[in-house]
Amino acid sequence: MKVAVCGAGIAGLAAAERMSSLGAEVVLLERAPQPRTQGYMIDFFGAGYDAAEAVGILPAIRDVGYNFDEASLVDEEGRRRAAVRYGEIDKALGGRLCSVMRPDLEAVLRDNLSDDVQVRFGASLTGVTHHGEGVTITLAGGETLEADLLVGADGVHSTVRALVFGDEAQYLRYLGFHTAAFIFDAPTIREAIGDNVALTDTIDRQMGFYTLRDGRIAVFAVHRTPDPGLPDDARAALQTSYADLGWLVPEALQRCPPSQEIYYDQVAQIEMPRWSRNRVVLIGDACAAVSLLAGQGASLAIGAAYVLAEQLRRTSSVDRALDFYERLWRPVIEEKQKTGRDAANQFLPTSSFQLWLRRTALRSVWIPGVNRRVVAAMVGEPDAVIAMLRSGSDA
Ligand SMILES: Cc1cc2nc3c(=O)[nH]c(=O)nc-3n(C[C@H](O)[C@H](O)[C@H](O)COP(=O)(O)OP(=O)(O)OC[C@H]3O[C@@H](n4cnc5c(N)ncnc54)[C@H](O)[C@@H]3O)c2cc1C
Repeated sequence: MKVAVCGAGIAGLAAAERMSSLGAEVVLLERAPQPRTQGYMIDFFGAGYDAAEAVGILPAIRDVGYNFDEASLVDEEGRRRAAVRYGEIDKALGGRLCSVMRPDLEAVLRDNLSDDVQVRFGASLTGVTHHGEGVTITLAGGETLEADLLVGADGVHSTVRALVFGDEAQYLRYLGFHTAAFIFDAPTIREAIGDNVALTDTIDRQMGFYTLRDGRIAVFAVHRTPDPGLPDDARAALQTSYADLGWLVPEALQRCPPSQEIYYDQVAQIEMPRWSRNRVVLIGDACAAVSLLAGQGASLAIGAAYVLAEQLRRTSSVDRALDFYERLWRPVIEEKQKTGRDAANQFLPTSSFQLWLRRTALRSVWIPGVNRRVVAAMVGEPDAVIAMLRSGSDA
């Protein structure tokens, strides 16, 4: 079988490896000219953690990962007001949590690809035509490729989805926030936060700081806005939206790289009635984005690749395998999407009173017995799909 995978992000890299493990001839198409070096810190746990263990890459992920003890919440004056205790969350998850920078996770997934997978950077998919039991794919520049199956793993603004299932507006649910991430060097910030994570304890906006192993600082920013429209100049937009946040923020804004090196997007979910059509199937954010508010999109992308490949392995009918993949995976996604939507209401305090409430709650929440319930509310229900497939049970 010839499989084309569109997008060499987390879902696409994981899918390419799994499809190749089935003996398929795989081409992986990526629009970007080379692997990304910019990114943000991902908390990695849940389905993708289980799938990474199943395919043997968990030790490599843990090697490049970070184990933070806690994230301090710090006000405009630099005073620590509360903390999120990562150590307690890790304990509640049975020690199955690690944090990893997105480019590092992608590098581990890339290193795990067999030499037989043809990886093509600078290859942008622009057209898809169905015929019989296959697809013809067109790339920017006019080249065409034939495949028996096209896996659309091209993210929340998926081109494959637009071409095969229609306009993004039908499927995208905007959650009311914009988010950004960038990396820079700043010894003074490094000294201020040490080896831990620091988050601003502020209303309607939040900036988070992580010290990386090489000493650089990774920043993520989220702010509430009713306008889903993205700015033309991400750097200028950040400098306006976060200007008065105090503490380390002015220096971070001053050191912020040019717009083209900043990740900037809406916070949104993707909801679709169907994830496959003929010989095109979507995985990851392309069909099932849960948003950063659910905090598991990368993990679920790796989980989806595992489930899809297992269904293809277990049935000789591609149509039935695509059906089973969706039947098994959709309930997991719907539950995490609900967790994300619930989080949207409480994620950033909207008033001084809510800020006070959050500080008070965070001080009392980490007592034994309570923390498990808190973690369940933050991350959703554990799911057993990967464990079931690993044990060889039929879906
Ligand atoms: C600030 C932030 C924090 C997050 N934190 C977490 C977290 O803590 N834990 C977690 O699990 N998840 C987290 N996520 C979510 C996670 O990053 C995403 O869910 C995940 O990256 C989705 O992977 P994907 O492969 O589906 O899509 P993407 O990572 O978006 O990859 C899509 C790829 O397709 C390529 N592409 C697009 N169009 C084309 C085309 N036409 N032709 C060829 N290639 C194309 C793109 O260049 C890209 O490489 C976070 C997200 C953000 C923004």
